[in-house]
This record gives sequence, C-alpha cells and structure tokens, in this order.
Amino acid sequence: TLKPLSDLEIARNANMKPITEIAEKAQIPLDAIEQYGRYKAKIDTNQINLDPTGKIVLVTATSPTPAGEGKSTVTVGLADALKRLEQKVIVALREPSLGPVMGIKGGATGGGYAQVLPMDDINLHFTGDLHAITTANNALAALIDNHIHQGNELNIDPRRIIWKRVMDLNDRALRNVLVGLGGPTQGVPREDGFDITVASEIMAIFCLATSIEDLKLRLANVLIGYTYAKEPVFVRDLGVEGALTLLLKDAFKPNLVQTIEGTPAIIHGGPFANIAHGCNSIAATQTARKLAEIVVTEAGFGADLGAEKFMDIKSRQGGFGPDAVVIVATIRALKMHGGVAKNNLVEENVPALTVGIGNLEKHIETVRQFGVEPIVALNRFITDTEEEIQTVLHWAQKHQIRIARTNVWEEGGAGGIELANHVLEVLAQPQNFAPLYNLTDSIEQKINTIVQKVYGGKGVQFTDRARKQLEQIEKFGWDGLPICMAKTQYSLSDQPNLLGRPEGFTINVREIIPKLGAGFLVCLTGEIMTMPGLPKQPAALRMDVAEDGSAIGLF
Ligand code: ADP
Repeated sequence: TLKPLSDLEIARNANMKPITEIAEKAQIPLDAIEQYGRYKAKIDTNQINLDPTGKIVLVTATSPTPAGEGKSTVTVGLADALKRLEQKVIVALREPSLGPVMGIKGGATGGGYAQVLPMDDINLHFTGDLHAITTANNALAALIDNHIHQGNELNIDPRRIIWKRVMDLNDRALRNVLVGLGGPTQGVPREDGFDITVASEIMAIFCLATSIEDLKLRLANVLIGYTYAKEPVFVRDLGVEGALTLLLKDAFKPNLVQTIEGTPAIIHGGPFANIAHGCNSIAATQTARKLAEIVVTEAGFGADLGAEKFMDIKSRQGGFGPDAVVIVATIRALKMHGGVAKNNLVEENVPALTVGIGNLEKHIETVRQFGVEPIVALNRFITDTEEEIQTVLHWAQKHQIRIARTNVWEEGGAGGIELANHVLEVLAQPQNFAPLYNLTDSIEQKINTIVQKVYGGKGVQFTDRARKQLEQIEKFGWDGLPICMAKTQYSLSDQPNLLGRPEGFTINVREIIPKLGAGFLVCLTGEIMTMPGLPKQPAALRMDVAEDGSAIGLF
C-alpha cells in the first residue's frame, strides 16, 4: 500500500487559482483587492458597501485530544460541500500561530483534501498580521518603560504594570523576566514577562473592533497598570493610541485565500480559545456575511471554550449569533474520554467509547442552552471500526440528535454532503439564540453560570488574590463586562487529567485581569499559562527547506 500523502504534499499538488479569480467569484470589486503575491490578498472593506446578512454556521467540537479533532478540516470541508450544493458560501477562519506550528498541535489550515491554500504561507508568516500585532503590543511596552525612564509624569508604579511583552512562539524561558538592568542609562529595573501574541489584548481588540475608529477607541481604553496611589492608568493617558492604530492599519484588513476546491476563505485574527476568546475577527465574519449567504466559521477547542466565547463575547459585540452549530466529534477522542490511553486510541474499544460519549453529550447540552439545535459531525478516521461507528450513530438516534458522518479529510467537499444537507435543514428553521448570562449579573454570578451550565461543575472558588482583584474591578465599575475564561482545553474542569464528563468539581480562579480595550475580564483558572512551553519532541525537529526553497515537514 502507498504511504498516504501529507497535508503539505496534498496542498502542493492542488491547482490554485489566481486570487483575483477567487475575488471575482466572491463578487469582491477588484479595487478592494490588495494582492500579496499571486494567491493571497487583503480586502479593503471600505469598498464593500453591502449589509451583513449572511447566516453563520459555527463549528465547534468535543474536548479534544492534543492532536485536535479536525475542526478546521470539517469547517473547510463543510464549506466546500455547501458550494457543491450551489450555495453562496465563504469560510472564515483564524490565522495560525507559530506557537503550535513549531510545537505540538500543528497548523490551522485544515487537513487532507479539506485545506485552505497556500497552506505553507498561511502557517508561516502569511501577510504579516501577527507580526504587526506583536509589534503594536511591544511598542506599547517600550513606551511605558520609556515614560517611566523619562521622569514618570503619570506616577506609574513599576510594580503594578499589568501590560506584558509578547512573542508569537512557545518560549517558557520568557514567562518571567527582569528588564531595565545595567544602570541609570538602561531604564528603570522591574519585573516583567512575556505572553504568546495570540493571548495578548491587542489580538483580542483586533478581532473585536468593528472599524478603524473602534480599534483606536479600544486601544485608548487599554488598562496598562496603576499609579503609586493605586489609580488606574490607560493608554489614553500616555497618548499613544494613534501610533498603535497606525501599526495595525494594514493588518486590520481581512485576508482572502481559497480552499483546495476554490471556495473563498477569509482568514483573519487568531486568538487561542483556552487563554483568549478563540474566534477569527469580527471584521472577517462581517465581510464574509456581506459577500455570502452562508458563512462557515470555527471557534477553537471544545464548545466549553471557543463556542461559549463566540456566543457570549463575540456575538454580543458583533450584534449577531450562530444560525447553526456543528459539533465535531471523533471516535478516538471519545475513547480517550472513556479512559483509553493516548497510545491505544487506534484499537477498537466499544465499552470505552460508550463511556466517553458523555463528553459529547455535555457539549450538545451546552449548545442547546444557547437556543441552537446542534448537528454532530462524526469526523471519520481510517482506524474507526464499523462497530464503533454504529455505536455512536445508535446513541444519536436514541437521543434524537442530528448526526452526519463526514469524510472530508479523504474526499474533500464530496465527503461533507450529508453534513451540509443537515446544516441547510437547520438554517431553514428559526433558532432562538441568546447569550447565557446578562452583563448586569455580578462577576461571581457570570462565572458561576459558565461553570454550572457549560462545564457541568458545582461552583467556583477564588484565591485571595483573585478575590482582591474582583473587589477592585467592582470598585472601578468594570464589572459589567463579559467573562473570558482561561481554562485547559482537555477537560471540562480546570484539571487537564479529568476527562469524560466530570461532575461535582469546583473551578479555581487564581487571577482576574481586566482587559478594558477588548471589553472582557480574563479569569485564569487552574494552572493555565498565557505563555505555553514547547514539548519534548517539537514539530520544529521535522522541518526543513528543499533546494528550490519549498517547505518540508509542515505536517
Ligand atoms: P482542529 O481544528 O480540531 O484542531 P484540525 O482540523 O487542525 O483540527 O486537524 C488536526 C490534524 O488532524 C490535521 O493534521 C488533520 O490533517 C488531521 N485530521 C483531521 N481529520 C482527519 C481525519 N478524518 N483523518 C485523518 N486525519 C485527520
């Protein structure tokens, strides 16, 4: 038997169309297209004066294995399937981060015959958006340190600066650093630290801003720290929101690319869903909604993370909601939730599968609580046995759950027709989407709602530090914001090893960080880190460049 082709090999064999042709098919005026080479373009959204009326299909998943469950793959394959059914469709995705690309999880451009192209460019530096975001973030850090060095007119307490530096890599050695060492001409010494770019507030603002003016206003509102008198200090006090907006102005235009089957794809913004809000930009979603009748989009990790934040944060700020929700499930992940070790997931194990289905069941209940009827996409792996597949299908039938087998990884859009038909049926019915909590609820109530209704836990416990921060947030009147939980993606709880459908657990909130520009409060739970580390065998070890300059070993 032949060795299956890698994602990169399949992508390279694909026949890409010039991006102008994709733009024309999507009815984007050519004046609005700024080309970055032959196959990538930015879209000048000022030139698209249409109403955003397209329906939104949100793709989420069960709690994943470390390899991912094929959410991006199904998102792309579903869009291709809808196109085959002659629907006017655009797929909207997040931009990959070099953290997972060099680390463990891999890229974010789908897989097999359901990919966006050019996958190597998109997974590496793409159109430079992440660099622009990193630079804007670090420009602010430099301007804060310079302000203190030059006399500190605002009386900023160097021990109470909450703005951190960022880098788009997994680099655990930079989590805690000392800056300004070396004497009076080298700045004022203080403790600092790095987060990964995709966890930064600039990334969140970039993704939630609805226009350049809104972008600037949000940047002005960023809280950077406190004075010696413990009064808050904002970017507007430093007066640098104009400069930061300038650094982001081109990046802020959504990127246009294509799938293997020539469906238009808009890829823009890329916050992680565990340590950030996990959705592509509102600018991308709204642009896609102006151009297409159906927008297929993805939110990161399980429905407890990306989808919850899509519905409670992004939808609220964007003034829309999902018209259909697809939950991607794999038999291997369900077996893992039923207690099977990572190395044995390819062996048939119906009893473990039956137990592990509990995790899927919880995510289905979660989506229903938001007023939308979910469709399960069973993402087929070649190692799945017929007995295992029938187990899941029977369970779904018994509980009246919409389910479709999908095989887009192997077959492209043709493997997603059953799923696409389910989606069209759901889109034809009215849904009753509503966010899960009210913004006027207290912070504790909002967190409790998420813990009890979405995670299935008992309640929440705050460390003394988090409790103090909560009181301070209330004192300053910032408590009317939505909550962005930072939690492990592996478990519904905050303990990565608690798989399946755990019950009776408590979520431990160790810090609450106000992100006033993004417009949410980040709650750090368990041991979650905002700067990941690399694994023992990082993906980087397999990468190389061929003599002709082409990439090797990008998945
Ligand atoms: P997610 O978006 O859930 O993180 P991805 O779509 O990025 O997952 O897929 C993760 C990896 O799994 C990719 O390398 C992809 O090629 C692979 N993959 C996805 N679906 C399948 C499948 N049905 N069979 C084999 N490999 C798959």
